[in-house]
Amino acid sequence: MNMEHLHGGSSAFTLRTPVAPSIPLVCDSPHSGTTYPDDFGHAVPRALLRAAEDTHVEALWQAAPDVGATLLAAHFPRSYIDANRTLDDLDPELLDAPWPTPLAPSEKTRLGYGLIWRNVNATTPIYARKLPVAEVQRRITRCYQPYHTALATAIEQTHARFGAVWHLNLHSMPNNAYERLQIQNTHPLADFVLGDRDGTTCEPAFVDLVERELKARGYTVARNDPYKGVQLIAHIGQPGRQRHSMQVEIRRPIYMDETSRERNAQFGTVQRDLTGVLQAIACYLRDHSAVRQEC
Ligand SMILES: [Zn+2]
Repeated sequence: MNMEHLHGGSSAFTLRTPVAPSIPLVCDSPHSGTTYPDDFGHAVPRALLRAAEDTHVEALWQAAPDVGATLLAAHFPRSYIDANRTLDDLDPELLDAPWPTPLAPSEKTRLGYGLIWRNVNATTPIYARKLPVAEVQRRITRCYQPYHTALATAIEQTHARFGAVWHLNLHSMPNNAYERLQIQNTHPLADFVLGDRDGTTCEPAFVDLVERELKARGYTVARNDPYKGVQLIAHIGQPGRQRHSMQVEIRRPIYMDETSRERNAQFGTVQRDLTGVLQAIACYLRDHSAVRQEC
């Protein structure tokens, strides 16, 4: 069953529920949205903004409902409002008036990539104007909050049913990730980066499983380097309460052309490989939770 959340005449996300016997897995793709709202009011060309998208990530993992998982995908673009940030991670310099509640801008905001992005890269600002407070509040109520509510509901319902939940927070990363994060690296960016905030948001065995399955398919895998995971897995991941949350980043040139944003010739192969990873996860979860079914 497909359900769309309609809000103010626009749809914030797609929620796909299991079409096979359920497993305690919830997947979400917060940054793959490509529907640019009319009130964005950006000053840079759309093509530059699109570099912020985790384009096609929801399609790479489209088999999740087929193995019994829930898959949530945002429709709004990440550069409009970033669902993987806390609400107080907001740059007051973007606004035309004081924000009504206290703010706590993080390192992400310092770089220009907070709740509302200030720039698309180190030198290119997105806006030629200050944003009215009400405009940012509208982005929160129309996009951020519906998305977070849908994800929280899926997590809670799954946990209530199985006594445990595993969450995959799905992303993709630019090939120049180190440069973008202003990190000096001594090795190339891995094909996949698994983030568990340095071992705090997910049981190690689950991270081991995903790493093993990806490596078996020929990919290089790193952990927390350079992405550890941000707001969503920090909030959801509480292994002591049987809530396991992990971020998965895919290096974009593996599956798409970073300039045109089009899928490349390997897209189908990567998609098939991730379907295999999902099937392996389903077997693992059937062994490690109350679900007892044949694999
Ligand atoms: Zn992302």
